Amino acid sequence: MEIACCVLDRWELRVKLRSILFIFAASDSNLIIGGIAIGGLVLYAFWGLIEWVRRSPVQPDPWDAEIERQLSEPEAIEICPHCLTEQSSTAWFCEKCGRAVGPYNNLMPYVMVFSQGEVFRAGVTDKLRASPLTIVGYLFYSSCNYFVFAPIYWFFLFKNLMRIKTERVEQ
Ligand SMILES: [Zn+2]
Repeated sequence: MEIACCVLDRWELRVKLRSILFIFAASDSNLIIGGIAIGGLVLYAFWGLIEWVRRSPVQPDPWDAEIERQLSEPEAIEICPHCLTEQSSTAWFCEKCGRAVGPYNNLMPYVMVFSQGEVFRAGVTDKLRASPLTIVGYLFYSSCNYFVFAPIYWFFLFKNLMRIKTERVEQ
């Protein structure tokens, strides 16, 4: 029985291979040349994109060489970028404000959950830099994570955005 199945599989494979070869051989040669030309254009465009990225100017650091040297010293103190509290080199989250301060937080599957939570929390509690891209990002990311419960998050997100907008108007 197994031998029969094996023979049948080989026969099916042979038939499929023949049909593929037949289609390829029976195709119009102009279509094949056109396909090769389009493939070449796509490769050329991709190569051009890579060259464009490589040749783009490097953004200069906002600080001078002295500060760069001080930052790379082993005695340099790490701080939280949000509240400027001193951090140990092994910390993952700031003890004061809870922000992610570890270098690999977003790469570790378990710790990443807390980083995502921090981003979502910032969307509904903090002052956001509300740009159309940010809002679309929050809507998309929250719908991927919360599925049917996403509208609840959107309610608090837009409530926060309205609060930020009224604060700006008052200022
Ligand atoms: Zn902090």
